[in-house]
Amino acid sequence: MITQNQAYKIMMAQTRLLGSEQVGLDTALNRVLVEDVCSDMDMPPFVKAAMDGYACRREDLANDLQIVEILKAGEAPRKSIGPNECAKIMTGGMVPEGADCVIIVEKTATLDANTVRFAAESTTDNICLIGEDIQVGDVVLLAGTRLRPQHVAMLASVGCVRPRVARKPRVGIIATGDELVEPDVKPDVSQIRSSNSHQLVAQLLNADAIPTYYGIARDTEESIDVTLKKAMLESDVVLLSGGVSMGDFDLVPGIMKANGLTILFDEIAIQPGKPTTFAVSDDTWCVGLPGNPVAAFTQFELLVKPFLYRLMGHDYCPANLRLPMARTHTRQRFARESWFPARITDAGTVQPCEYHGSAHIESLCEADCLGTMPAGIASLDEGTLVAIRIL
Ligand code: AMP
Ligand code: MG
Repeated sequence: MITQNQAYKIMMAQTRLLGSEQVGLDTALNRVLVEDVCSDMDMPPFVKAAMDGYACRREDLANDLQIVEILKAGEAPRKSIGPNECAKIMTGGMVPEGADCVIIVEKTATLDANTVRFAAESTTDNICLIGEDIQVGDVVLLAGTRLRPQHVAMLASVGCVRPRVARKPRVGIIATGDELVEPDVKPDVSQIRSSNSHQLVAQLLNADAIPTYYGIARDTEESIDVTLKKAMLESDVVLLSGGVSMGDFDLVPGIMKANGLTILFDEIAIQPGKPTTFAVSDDTWCVGLPGNPVAAFTQFELLVKPFLYRLMGHDYCPANLRLPMARTHTRQRFARESWFPARITDAGTVQPCEYHGSAHIESLCEADCLGTMPAGIASLDEGTLVAIRIL
């Protein structure tokens, strides 16, 4: 059996970029840049006042200063500053020639309508120099950046109004199981509602992919085959849930093979998520996720999400956090690496949620992270550091 880390590496090795498109600034959020973005100008592009005040010569600070003009932001100075002169200037205004500092309004006394005086012990320059933040030609954003609001601001500042971003993966979702009904149906005595279908739609939207739900396939070769064929035709990636364990009606791996997919792994030494299966063909990737919702959720988080981001050219690197356990957490079987739903307390410790096993979907509702126990470890004692992944 391979480890979770080996499974991760196998999946990552199968990725390639899907293509790109240009988008407008207001639809760029969470998209991934496919090329570096450079600045087309210096920032600031002119010597700029950092505060509201008076631009003058530092050597004149002890003297009365004659106001020669008032400068709004966006206005070029008409006059240069000579001895004992100043220009009233607003934050963001262009500092006139001759001035080497801006004294702030709060540190001045007004003597008459045209005269002010510095009225403090000392002042900083309150001037931003040309190009002190960014110089023309500097790379301001790297290919692979997932665009957050501050990155959109950066694009706007350099005039990159149609950034080239990765195409989002189209991901088909298939639930399998004779016991499943759609959530709007009241289940019969032996049935349950399919939660995975919609959990996966939501997880895919969160991971910036495009989900398409193909419904519930029954536990027959024909039903899975027909649904998988259609999904493979229309998707880059197909996620199935259920039907990958050892039961008599776990038919998914066989149907994958019959559809030209090569299975690269079908078992991981992990808890939950042992039967997670990964298969590839020339133009489709296919993941068989476990049927139990906590297992499907966890393996999406650990494997599928980074995989999808890599298809977009982005390295998904969740914060590598280690926090102390709020209480001792033990397990009986400890051969496999395990992940458990947990909450970060106000004290900054990790509190495992009540967790009855991989069908216990409610345990995740309370969780804001997943904690992990390495293979071979039976107990995490109170106060010991545990690696977590924020959800
Ligand atoms: P399987 O891997 O098909 O044997 O399913 C394992 C368990 O997960 C069974 O108890 C299933 O009823 C449950 N399960 C399978 N698919 C889903 C689903 N879409 N939503 C919720 N539970 C599911
Ligand atoms: Mg099943």
